[in-house]
Amino acid sequence: MSKRDYYEVLGVSQSASQDDIKKAYRGLARKLHPDVNKDDPGTEDKFKEVSEAYEVLSDTERRAQYDRFGHQDPSQGAGFGGFQGDFGGINDIFDMFFGGGGRTRGPQRGADLEYTLGIEFKDAAFGLSREIEIPRTETCDVCGGSGAKPGTKVDTCATCRGSGVQEFVTNTPLGRMVNRRTCPTCQGAGKRIATPCAACRGAGTVRKRRKIEVKVPPGVDTGTRLRISGAGEAGASGAPPGDLYIVIRVNKHDFFDREGNDIYCEVPITFVQAALGDEITVPTLYGRETVRVPEGTQTGTVFHLRGKGMPRLGNGVARGDQHVRVVLQTPSRLTERQRELFRELSREFGEDSHEQSRSLFDRMKSAFLGD
Ligand SMILES: [Zn+2]
Ligand SMILES: [Zn+2]
Repeated sequence: MSKRDYYEVLGVSQSASQDDIKKAYRGLARKLHPDVNKDDPGTEDKFKEVSEAYEVLSDTERRAQYDRFGHQDPSQGAGFGGFQGDFGGINDIFDMFFGGGGRTRGPQRGADLEYTLGIEFKDAAFGLSREIEIPRTETCDVCGGSGAKPGTKVDTCATCRGSGVQEFVTNTPLGRMVNRRTCPTCQGAGKRIATPCAACRGAGTVRKRRKIEVKVPPGVDTGTRLRISGAGEAGASGAPPGDLYIVIRVNKHDFFDREGNDIYCEVPITFVQAALGDEITVPTLYGRETVRVPEGTQTGTVFHLRGKGMPRLGNGVARGDQHVRVVLQTPSRLTERQRELFRELSREFGEDSHEQSRSLFDRMKSAFLGD
């Protein structure tokens, strides 16, 4: 089934403000919330669709990514994530807007983790694999997450009859609402353990430091979030684990600056090269390039090297450009002979050069008067 456009789902235009998006979402969430539409299970899917669209469009970073890539994942396995499997966010979103008391619906999916990975400029261009170590909660190996000593009996919690949840029904102006809270007797586990597992003291989970191989695709930039599905904290009582988000931070480069997928650099040229023209060698991410500087080049002139910029994230083929700005180096520490040659050159230029600089001075003066 093809996914509907997020803007269409919320009924807003592509240029909608964050306020419009929030307003549209609130309206739809009120209408479609599954707790308000208990008898119509079809609305739950609609609610999920609306919530997913809101999650993405309300986050400026994810919205920008969606505007660029649509529903497509820009990198293989990691990157822009939709929602998978059980939708865990319903109650959180519900609480946010309606101040509801309940946040538990059966066993909770594990929490997401975030890890900031600093990488070099070159790695951002070519991608890399890096092993990182993260502390996280994992399902206990000994009891398989049940929390009970292997071979011992587990009873159903009498308070919640195994659901892990207590329900309270209230009537509100929006309709009949069911608030839920975690069962206070079993803390949501739904069971009573007679003999706890020794390895995890009955928790079902243990803290571990885990090594994880992170594949960073070419084209990432500072702020890019890569998602590694299921690599977050273990869920309670066998619920699915959360995700691990790798947040990229790219170190500054001595020579290259970056804006989007374009790269900017400055290359010094001599007075003679600018006046007579020359071929200069410019470093790029992909090796040396020759740039032809024509006769009479002014300082600040920008030359463009097509396709020598950063690769587009998730594309791998298309690349930005490199923009080379030449900067004239005024000669200093002249020898007496060089000084004499410059004087001679100046005499040779005569009125010509004075005329040029006069018009420049005139323009500058009028700029000051316009202050
Ligand atoms: Zn255990
Ligand atoms: Zn209980």
